[in-house]
Amino acid sequence: MIPQEIIDQILDRLDIVEVISEYIPLKKSGRNFKACCPFHNEKTPSFVVSPDKQIFHCFGGCAIGGNLIKFIMKHENLTFPEAVRIAAAKAGIALPKYERPDGESNSLASRLYEINNTATAFYQNFLRSPKGKGALEYLKKRGFSSDIISEFRIGCAPDSWESFRKYCESKKISAELARKAGLTIPSEKGKGDYDRFRKRITFPIFNERGNISGLGARVMDNSLPKYINSPETVIYSKSNVLYGLNFSKKSIRAEGYAILVEGYMDVIIPYQYGVTNVVATSGTALTSRQVDLLKKHANTAVMVFDADSAGVAASLRGLDILIENGLNVRIATLPEGEDPDSFVREHGKEGFMKEINAAKDLFDYKLDLLLEKKGKSDIGGVADDMLPTIAKVQNAVVQSDYLKKLAERLGVHEASMRYEMGKVKPDYSYHYASEAKVDVEVTNYRSSELHLLGLALSAKRVFTLIQRELGLHMFRDINVKKVMDMLERFYDENDENINVGKLMSRMENDADAGSAVVQAIAKAEITQDIDKAVQDCMICVKKENREEKLKDLTSQLKKAQASHDDTGVIDILGKINKIHKEKVA
Ligand SMILES: [Zn+2]
Repeated sequence: MIPQEIIDQILDRLDIVEVISEYIPLKKSGRNFKACCPFHNEKTPSFVVSPDKQIFHCFGGCAIGGNLIKFIMKHENLTFPEAVRIAAAKAGIALPKYERPDGESNSLASRLYEINNTATAFYQNFLRSPKGKGALEYLKKRGFSSDIISEFRIGCAPDSWESFRKYCESKKISAELARKAGLTIPSEKGKGDYDRFRKRITFPIFNERGNISGLGARVMDNSLPKYINSPETVIYSKSNVLYGLNFSKKSIRAEGYAILVEGYMDVIIPYQYGVTNVVATSGTALTSRQVDLLKKHANTAVMVFDADSAGVAASLRGLDILIENGLNVRIATLPEGEDPDSFVREHGKEGFMKEINAAKDLFDYKLDLLLEKKGKSDIGGVADDMLPTIAKVQNAVVQSDYLKKLAERLGVHEASMRYEMGKVKPDYSYHYASEAKVDVEVTNYRSSELHLLGLALSAKRVFTLIQRELGLHMFRDINVKKVMDMLERFYDENDENINVGKLMSRMENDADAGSAVVQAIAKAEITQDIDKAVQDCMICVKKENREEKLKDLTSQLKKAQASHDDTGVIDILGKINKIHKEKVA
């Protein structure tokens, strides 16, 4: 948790117009600024930034809104603490160390990043030294350019048991830390530690932000194991990393999809040839954490596999995770014996992109593979393998299409395929419901209450009027009520014009309240006659309150009558009459 005072300080120092202008061009429009919404496709600008209120909101399709931290989160696909960190840097405010995300500055973690960085530099220097000549020649022979070697910080570990350990000693780096990072290993004979990486090409493994969380190392001949990696540490877990993402995330976003490969070289060589939207799973079967990382940047992945059986098996294993997580998956198959690294060197970017563009839809890929393996005679077997995959498709329309297609290809009735599908996942139709849950934060609020909230947010005088003539207790919408209560405290401490962005930073964990604010402001924004609107809305709220009370009392009355509770009946009738009288007056 980042202290509210610090968030307030950040929001005090930054101006939302300036911050958003760094990302998209804004045009002045009356008291506000306008642009085409960066979060949905549109031709007429409906994205509004208010310097008075320090918030933005989209009047168009996506209805997103919030303060400048929310904008950074949405635009950069960051978590709240990550966005705060960026905003803090812009504002020139130092965040307390313990507040940083991932515990990255929790002392052990930051020391581990540091020593990994030291080791990376050490191996880079060795590669450039006369003793590294052989390794450098090997890399050149494999097609690595000098630039790419520098950019990916590739190095070489010396053919020695203790060169890095000794280097640490000379630099007063603790032996314990080197051990914790897995860069050295304690010897069994108690003779001190020895280096984990020896006589290998080293590849630092960057996290998404470009910090080195571990290292991978490859032999230069045919000896085994071909690769060794850092052990799992507090900052490195094989299943949490997509190798190359720090380099490729921009391009993945620009292209709208990621190319998914297996090894380090399969990222680096295509990257060097200009295919920059590549990431690698580094030899693990794809994990859902990796899918999450990917989905921050694109909704489509093209998986590249070599035609040999190992690749095919790996692809089938990874597929369902992708689908389950709502990723669109296509499969590109390279000729047998080829991997992206060798293929790009041979056929260049163009040849490689031809294969990528010819990638098959996951459905067709799997079906073709199964038909090839099992043959048309085993329709039942093919269906058994296909249906669980189809069941995982999130989009109901796509899912339905797949079912139809499967029935066609197998030459059976669609109805019977649907029947079989029902057995695999009897409730598959529920996806229709979850499909509506897109990233649009629209909840239904009571309309006139919401409108009043918007008007109250625009000026203290309006808030005071509502408070006096209606009373905050009249608000029945829990989210509107919540914000109104906050507003009461906020106006106590602030003058006429409040910084709504600041108010919203107090609702970070309450999406519904935050959304109420945005929608309320959107409603109030288009109000012509504020005073008339306030009066009209207050009348509506009173009326709604009355009607609800009557409804309540009527049902109480029915119960009392049913149980022959005569005093109860008289009492309730009295209340009902009183409300009717009020209505007349
Ligand atoms: Zn929008």
